[in-house]
Amino acid sequence: MDNPVLNQGPLPIFSSILPIEIEPALKKLIEQNRAELSHLLNQPSFTWDNLIAPLLAMDNTLNKMWSPIAHLHSIMESEDLRAAYNTCLPLLTEYHSDLMQNTKLYEAIKSIAESPEYQTLDDAKQKVIQNELRDFRLAGVNLSESDKIRFTELQKQLSTLSTTFAEHVLDATDAWSLHITDLAQLKGIPEQTLQIASDQAKKQGKSGWLFTLDHPSYYALIKYLENRELRQCIYEAHVTRASLEGPHKNRFDNTPIMESILKIRLELANLLGFKTFADYSLATKMARDPEEVLTFLNDLVVQSKPFAEREIQELSAFAKSITPHLTQLEAWDIAYYTEKLREKKYALSEENLRPYFPIHKVLNGMFSVVQRLFGIHIIEHADVDTWHKDVKFFEVQDHHQKTRGFFYIDLYARPHKRDGAWMDECRIRQILLDKNLQHPVAFLTCNFTQPVLDKPAFLTHDDVQTIFHEFGHCLHHLLTKVDYAPVSGMNGVPWDAVEFPSQFLEHWCWDKETLFLISEHEMTGEPLPDSLYQKLLAARHFQAGMHMLRQLEFAIFDFRLHVEFDPKKEGQIQSILDDVRQNVAVITPPSFNRFQNSFSHIFAGGYAAGYYSYKWAEVLSSDAFSLFEEEGIFNAKTGKAFLQHILEAGGVYHPMDLFVAFRGRKPHIDALLRHVGLV
Ligand code: ZN
Repeated sequence: MDNPVLNQGPLPIFSSILPIEIEPALKKLIEQNRAELSHLLNQPSFTWDNLIAPLLAMDNTLNKMWSPIAHLHSIMESEDLRAAYNTCLPLLTEYHSDLMQNTKLYEAIKSIAESPEYQTLDDAKQKVIQNELRDFRLAGVNLSESDKIRFTELQKQLSTLSTTFAEHVLDATDAWSLHITDLAQLKGIPEQTLQIASDQAKKQGKSGWLFTLDHPSYYALIKYLENRELRQCIYEAHVTRASLEGPHKNRFDNTPIMESILKIRLELANLLGFKTFADYSLATKMARDPEEVLTFLNDLVVQSKPFAEREIQELSAFAKSITPHLTQLEAWDIAYYTEKLREKKYALSEENLRPYFPIHKVLNGMFSVVQRLFGIHIIEHADVDTWHKDVKFFEVQDHHQKTRGFFYIDLYARPHKRDGAWMDECRIRQILLDKNLQHPVAFLTCNFTQPVLDKPAFLTHDDVQTIFHEFGHCLHHLLTKVDYAPVSGMNGVPWDAVEFPSQFLEHWCWDKETLFLISEHEMTGEPLPDSLYQKLLAARHFQAGMHMLRQLEFAIFDFRLHVEFDPKKEGQIQSILDDVRQNVAVITPPSFNRFQNSFSHIFAGGYAAGYYSYKWAEVLSSDAFSLFEEEGIFNAKTGKAFLQHILEAGGVYHPMDLFVAFRGRKPHIDALLRHVGLV
């Protein structure tokens, strides 16, 4: 094989990938796959072995070629790579949408589902076929020719509108800045933020300090700025982005775009036979119907509200005690007084804990946690080709020293690397056409602060939670025992259950014994002392009620919007939001607040009628963890049950059935309320 991008070995050879060879490689594979597909569809009748197995093999070939490219694009971007990536994306989209519109392919798969063979297939194979047929239907395969044209047209419009929505938010954010020349006005702002703001000003040839609406700049101002009028000013600019209110008046307004998006989503859902877009969204999720989601969210409101009411009273009394002339706590005061109250109550900052968490201690400690829980061993291999000198590579073995999978860890922030932390698939576990097993491989990516000189990197406790979270996703991907890619690991797991294993593993970050395993002070070598541990625990539940209500406000607004939206009525987005706040919020935002106009998760991302998923999965993860609290935090028997019923099970069975198999009953919400401090 002369083009190294087409390498189909067990691991990608990153050092041999050249951007110039990507597009030709992809075109060649797509061409091969198209030829293979038409050859397959020319057979007189269809079976798992003569259709589905070769289809999965075609997917795997493409995935093995593309996953390292997509990964490099997010962590080692260069101009050439970005160009190659952007040329390839439309080719892939076209290939996939042609597949999903292929009526002949749909009929062929359906004929297998209706044949006597189907009853002889195991559960995993049956689930693969059912999911395929469902996805074909959701892509409009059963529509009349004229409806199909309309469906495609609506999808195109929706994609353009979402892009415009996101661009407006970005443009409105970029268009606003605050230029200050008198340092006295900036009392309270941390030194580091002032430095960045002064650099920003210099870049524009100005003296003084320049602040923007970017995340770090905005949060530093709203949290620390003593000058209340300035705080109000920046708050107003932030919550009116992309609307007709505030300083952005008449520029980048998203209101008509949001109306159009909701209208199109409803029409798409109706075309496919769903009453609302929320019903359409739930067709691929664990929750059964809109009523179940809304009941779940509203119950949480009832549980959290008394706590939030007490917290806001405490905050208000505290604010008045340190600012005697303050008559009313406003929206732009909350973050400021919250920070002050936190300092007073707990005297604990993230930086106090950092010297206790050197990266090697955290990683090795985390590996021994999962070894004790699931009986697996993690072994580093040094001689593997990667994309950067900081990247490490590990093998996961079971207790018989049999390989279960592999993962790469790329820990530190650097230029040209996308922000945030995530797990991605490099290879998916499956049985290949030659009957050999392909082991799963994962990419675990974080953006921790780079180590300085010859010292190791040190993590904050937040960072520690992040790596446990992402490692939970990794284990879900790597420990699966399912042999067919579409339901192997996280594949085929409904969106509202995907965060279950990752949130689950985070719980160990709050356990004393685990903290002992993963901490070691840089000077003394001592693990985290009990006094700091107690402070960490005490601060964990600070303003838990207010935090919960905020998440619920977003989730209920998102969900009700996609249940109730009626294109014949005007001003519904605002009226639904007002009504949600009336029932949920303990802080009434000012009338100019247009938070919804920059709510990108639901208008430009994949969370429409799905924002509730975070909380939904948290019920599962908390209740699962509570069994460990009952039976011992490192109880190997409970660990084995979690391994079998959850981590190994992939997407073959309904998540509720898996949960019940593990827990012996349906999930209760009590554990979540206890873990977040709402009891
Ligand atoms: Zn996650």
